[in-house]
Amino acid sequence: MDFLQSEGADVVHVDVMDGSFVPNITFGLPVVESIRHRTELPIDCHLMIVEPSKYAVDFVKAGANWVSVHQEADLHLHRTIETVRKAGAKAGIALNPSTPVETLSDMLDGLDFVLLMSVNPGFGGQTFIENTMKKVRRLEKLRDEGGLSFIIQVDGGINETNAQALVRAGADCMVAGNAIFKAPNPAEALRGIKRAMESSRNNQS
Ligand code: ZN
Repeated sequence: MDFLQSEGADVVHVDVMDGSFVPNITFGLPVVESIRHRTELPIDCHLMIVEPSKYAVDFVKAGANWVSVHQEADLHLHRTIETVRKAGAKAGIALNPSTPVETLSDMLDGLDFVLLMSVNPGFGGQTFIENTMKKVRRLEKLRDEGGLSFIIQVDGGINETNAQALVRAGADCMVAGNAIFKAPNPAEALRGIKRAMESSRNNQS
């Protein structure tokens, strides 16, 4: 894990799955606490759980600096986002591939970030869903029109090629799992994705 910081990762993204919202179970609060002791990077907890409002603040207390909850899992998003922010973390909403970005149009000014799932949540190692590009463009347009500054994060099936295109479309933050941790040389894989993102940013300016 030590290479993440030295190679320029911005956050450590932690996928919390409950076996109910998604068909897989990963880990919960104790693991987040132990990661907190292992890195100085911000920890970003992506809560793929039902009723995330019950636990979101506990994740902040366990050491999360960013917390995202799924639009599809929470009937009271506005309240949940407020409580996460009051607890001192950046608050975001995650959207499944089938959920349109427009569903957040009345929430965007209260968000620190929006996470677009580019695979169906639940498992690592899936193929990137191309329609995500269109969603990023539409979300970037909403951000621009509203004069807002939330971060656009994309999660799932990231590689150097789509990372470059996603940054061009308006995304800011890529979540890469297998692309880094299953690579023969994880540090080099991380550098490659960062380079791809930088080259898009430099072409834009
Ligand atoms: Zn995630």
